[in-house]
Amino acid sequence: MNLPTTADILIIGGGVMGASAAYHLAQRGMTDIVLLEKEEFFGTGATGRCAGGVRYQFSTEINVKLSLESLPMIERFRDEIGQDVHYRQCGYLLIATNETIAATFKQNVAMQNSLGVQTQLLTGDEVRARLPLMRFEDAIAGTFNQKDGTVDPNSIVAGYISAAQKLGVKAISRAEVTGIRVRGDEVEAVETNQGVIQTRTILNAAGPWAGEIAKMAGVQIPIVPIRRQMFTTNPLKEVPEDFPFVIDFAQSLYFHREGEGLLIGMSNQNEKPGFDQNVDEEFEFVNLEAAIERMPLLEHAASRASHWAGLYEVTPDAHPIFGGSPVKGFQICAGFSGHGFMHGPVSGKLMTEYILDGKFSTVDVSMLDLARFEEGRLIKEYNVV
Ligand SMILES: Cc1cc2nc3c(=O)[nH]c(=O)nc-3n(C[C@H](O)[C@H](O)[C@H](O)COP(=O)(O)OP(=O)(O)OC[C@H]3O[C@@H](n4cnc5c(N)ncnc54)[C@H](O)[C@@H]3O)c2cc1C
Repeated sequence: MNLPTTADILIIGGGVMGASAAYHLAQRGMTDIVLLEKEEFFGTGATGRCAGGVRYQFSTEINVKLSLESLPMIERFRDEIGQDVHYRQCGYLLIATNETIAATFKQNVAMQNSLGVQTQLLTGDEVRARLPLMRFEDAIAGTFNQKDGTVDPNSIVAGYISAAQKLGVKAISRAEVTGIRVRGDEVEAVETNQGVIQTRTILNAAGPWAGEIAKMAGVQIPIVPIRRQMFTTNPLKEVPEDFPFVIDFAQSLYFHREGEGLLIGMSNQNEKPGFDQNVDEEFEFVNLEAAIERMPLLEHAASRASHWAGLYEVTPDAHPIFGGSPVKGFQICAGFSGHGFMHGPVSGKLMTEYILDGKFSTVDVSMLDLARFEEGRLIKEYNVV
């Protein structure tokens, strides 16, 4: 597709945020929307590299409220968008191995229950009973929500992009934004490797690259890319179909079924910010050893089938940035800090409300504005994996 020379709304980034925003804007009747993605295919940034986990279990009310809107949108996705997204409600089982984590889990469950989310608090024995294949002698508590689970990220992006295109959105791949022209305090145009597009409204949905895009407009946003990686195993017949998404919280070590095997990941707490997306083989070994400790059958049964790394888009309080910036017309929807895939559906809808109506209606996310960092209004999320 030839690059248009003007756009009413220009979205930068074809991951889950950009795709969802494009669809929701078009659904509200906007007819001149352009979405630019630098890669050959949409959804190959953080979205395509993520673990696909979706959950209600968060530690802040605002994240639970985002899940309460976003996860039902994923449940309705096939009916609304016409694309199967393979939502498997296997439940997330978060495990506490020390008193501090257990006490926080207890508070989190009370808060989630108060918002109508049916998360259960489990004892250490109940955790062990649910995971006969795993070694959790040190578990002292757990939390479980059956409606948490996994969804296919590529299907969500592909579904939104093709539904948006049917509504007239021009979604263009291999189109890299290289500069943003600002006149006075207002955006004027976007420069790309394929030409210039005049526009008065830009949505920065560039995920881990959102900070770089903002700099082009002269805006500073505190989002840093941090590498995270995972691997999958070959089929493991011992692992039951209903095996939950297990998280050993103290180690940020997680396991969930992927095909007939497992997907296993662990966060390297010493990872420095950067854009490197190659697998750190040394850390993969640390991850594998930790996984074998928890699930001894992996030592003999599993060989690694595939592995990859991607970038978290981390803010100082692990919450996203929604809304405007000091440059008029430059909007931001980024910084989800490693759990944004699941909130992509509602986030695109929220940015549509903000751009078209000037306010967030579905969930009030006005406290997640850019100014909170300067004004010291941070809201820390504890349940980051
Ligand atoms: C290893 C890993 C595991 C994760 N697991 C989960 C999980 O289980 N559950 C969950 O909810 N979330 C998870 N996440 C987080 C989730 O992937 C992100 O929060 C979410 O995908 C962010 O979506 P996005 O659209 O903002 O970013 P992206 O998907 O990265 O999209 C941004 C797009 O912008 C494009 N772009 C960048 N610069 C330019 C430019 N100059 N011009 C044009 N295009 C540009 C990029 O190519 C990219 O496609 C995980 C992330 C990683 C890395």
